[in-house]
Amino acid sequence: MRQVEHWIGGKRVPGGSGRTGPVYDPATGAQQAEVALASRDEVDEAVAVAAAAFPGWRDTPLSKRTDVFFRFRHLLEEHAGELAALLTGEHGKVRADAAGELARGLENVEFACGIGHLLKGGHSEQAATGVDVHSLRQPLGVIAGITPFNFPAMVPLWMLANAIACGNAFVLKPSEKDPSPSVRLAELLTAAGLPDGVCNVVHGDREAVDRLLEHPDVAAISFVGSTPVARHVYETGTAAGKRVQALGGAKNHMVVLPDADIAMAADAAVSAAYGSAGERCMAVSVVVAVGDVADPLVDAIAGRLPALQVGPGDDPASEMGPLVTREHRDRVASYLEGGGGRVVVDGREHEVPGDGFFLGVSLVDDVEPGMPVYDDEIFGPVLSVVRVATYEDALRLVNENPYGNGTAIFTRDGGAARRYQHEVVCGMVGVNVPIPVPVAYYSFGGWKASLFGDTAVYGPSGVDFCTRTKVVTTRWPDPSTSAVDLGFPRTR
Ligand code: NAD
Repeated sequence: MRQVEHWIGGKRVPGGSGRTGPVYDPATGAQQAEVALASRDEVDEAVAVAAAAFPGWRDTPLSKRTDVFFRFRHLLEEHAGELAALLTGEHGKVRADAAGELARGLENVEFACGIGHLLKGGHSEQAATGVDVHSLRQPLGVIAGITPFNFPAMVPLWMLANAIACGNAFVLKPSEKDPSPSVRLAELLTAAGLPDGVCNVVHGDREAVDRLLEHPDVAAISFVGSTPVARHVYETGTAAGKRVQALGGAKNHMVVLPDADIAMAADAAVSAAYGSAGERCMAVSVVVAVGDVADPLVDAIAGRLPALQVGPGDDPASEMGPLVTREHRDRVASYLEGGGGRVVVDGREHEVPGDGFFLGVSLVDDVEPGMPVYDDEIFGPVLSVVRVATYEDALRLVNENPYGNGTAIFTRDGGAARRYQHEVVCGMVGVNVPIPVPVAYYSFGGWKASLFGDTAVYGPSGVDFCTRTKVVTTRWPDPSTSAVDLGFPRTR
């Protein structure tokens, strides 16, 4: 059985805890590898290596740090095919989707190539007589990243590009379900010239996460995953005195106003609900049909579903792959039995030969709050439709939902769209864009139960998270003017 090892100090390190987890090929259902699950001691070892590497990396000239990211960008492009195959092999997503994930991850590396601009401090001359003030942005030390299964390359790149480019050392604890891409990314960073120990990957489960959360030498934790774990990470990490950003789950609503182009809205809903088998934190999981748009919209969505090709991710004909594990597939399917609403298309009826973790696409109409299919984050290819009478009803529904990651509005009325983006209580909004993941020079972050903490991830917010500010006040007085003065220093 293939072993997925840790990456510590610039080399692969076999697991030493005696504990391992299975890594499946979701398209066949067969176990393909074992991943090491780190003990507390192994986490301590990775943090110690990172802490030792930190001062040298912090003191490396910014231009040389930037060189590493230019070379890393080139290597990511050169190895894109191999990385996409790795993503498909362990996550199950189709190859084109894996290539899209890498392309969006690459944006973060490009952002890191120009990070010098955002690491500049400020300078105020003559803030008081003969006194100048300037500010510095300095790295924190060791930052730990804990990532989910659904973007095994992009979310690690969200975190590690900024953390390392800002001069920190990094310890990544990727999802144990699809751990190999993270190791490959770390290997490519080493090939790009990153000194050993600056980027480490330690595999594991709760034991490893909990050790990172309490470790005295971990300065900050960047987490992406489900809301219950995000809350645990935020509460435990901040109680231990760390800076924490913890991005959680989602229930993304796509509001369709009566004037919307039905065909365009249906195309967008199908693409955003079922792409990556609905295992995206920005997937549309609820269509909110306003007024008399509902009947034609549901017909248009349902009419597109029989043509969707569900199959192994490495088959170029497949548009949607399997779910990540058998348990997850069964949990998603359970919402079609007693989850509420009226099942218009039942994905369980779509058979894919073999033992892969496949489930066809499902559409559930007449859904309302209070039904499990509405209330829970399903994280699978199940799209709900809630019918409401007016724009105000739609807005109230979205704003009363506990999650606030992404939302979209489909309309041809610019005034209505403008009003929605102003009034909706949600971190990321798309206007006729169903999956509004911000480009890398903005930042990614939801509101409400979709993010615990004060900073979004990547982009300028990520730079704020990965650095701290120091303010220096300076004067060069003539010693002859020196005198004792017990008063509080004044500027005027
Ligand atoms: P998850 O919460 O199960 O796991 C995320 C990470 O936490 C993994 O590394 C896992 O090993 C670790 N973990 C799991 N249980 C833990 C526990 N009890 N204590 C400590 N650590 C634990 O999430 P997942 O199933 O891997 O990913 C899917 C979830 O992630 C969905 O809820 C999705 O919405 C969310 N997600 C959110 C975003 C975002 O940006 N908001 C992005 C991607 C995914």
